[in-house]
Amino acid sequence: MASTTGTLYIISAPSGAGKSSLVKALLDAQPQVRVSVSHTTRPPRPGEVDGVHYHFVSREDFIERLQRDEFLEHAEVFGNFYGTSQRWLEDTLAEGYDLILEIDWQGAQQVRRQMPLTRSIFILPPTREALRQRLTNRGQDSDEVIDGRMREAVSEMSHYVEYDYLVINDDFTHALGDLQAIFRANQLRQETQQQRHARMLSDLLA
Ligand code: GDP
Ligand code: ADP
Ligand code: 5GP
Repeated sequence: MASTTGTLYIISAPSGAGKSSLVKALLDAQPQVRVSVSHTTRPPRPGEVDGVHYHFVSREDFIERLQRDEFLEHAEVFGNFYGTSQRWLEDTLAEGYDLILEIDWQGAQQVRRQMPLTRSIFILPPTREALRQRLTNRGQDSDEVIDGRMREAVSEMSHYVEYDYLVINDDFTHALGDLQAIFRANQLRQETQQQRHARMLSDLLA
């Protein structure tokens, strides 16, 4: 019998749209969902923990991993490299967990090509002003970094058309409800339910 494999989700957003906060809140409510921890050459922000928020590595280390083909996808964003490790991803899906990749649109294109069943979600802020305000309020990036991220935001946001779902993060609770609805509906798909409730179904139909 085929074992249950989890669903792979991609979540993208311009920096500061609230992606990490929404994903964290989603995970608190959904024990069968895991998030992939990327490798990055970006320096840690205050409070970021190696192995939890990212695997923080040097440029040399990143390039060696790239040459060893360890990444399912990788991209350069704001001058830093980011990549998703393939091994952990495959193991986690095989264990039946749903898995979230918080990656940019370039990485999303690479993953979709290799894993066509991936569902993708784009998160948008309600306005550009709100986006800048959130980056400022987060208080973790310099004005220079924030200016750079704002300059990139419009071209990043133009990629929303490549995604299956669009969530507007204006009111946080509302956006979280939308995100939960996407996961819940997917968990109720007939093929998934058939595997989860195999015993009950065979009893009903016996
Ligand atoms: P934040 O989104 O403002 O919190 O900033 P981050 O530094 O965490 O992320 C920077 C960019 O890199 C975002 O567009 C992320 O989606 C992207 N990113 C993070 N991890 C990965 C990854 O493993 N692969 C790819 N392709 N992009 C990533
Ligand atoms: P991202 O991971 O997309 O870069 P974060 O999750 O770090 O974004 O959120 C950026 C900042 O905006 C954080 O300080 C977060 O608390 C705040 N934030 C997130 N969603 C909302 C919202 N709906 N309204 C107001 N502030 C928000
Ligand atoms: P930050 O440096 O603010 O944590 O992230 C900046 C951007 O990098 C975000 O848009 C985030 O989604 C993206 N990012 C983070 N990890 C990865 C990754 O592994 N792959 C790709 N392609 N993008 C990533």
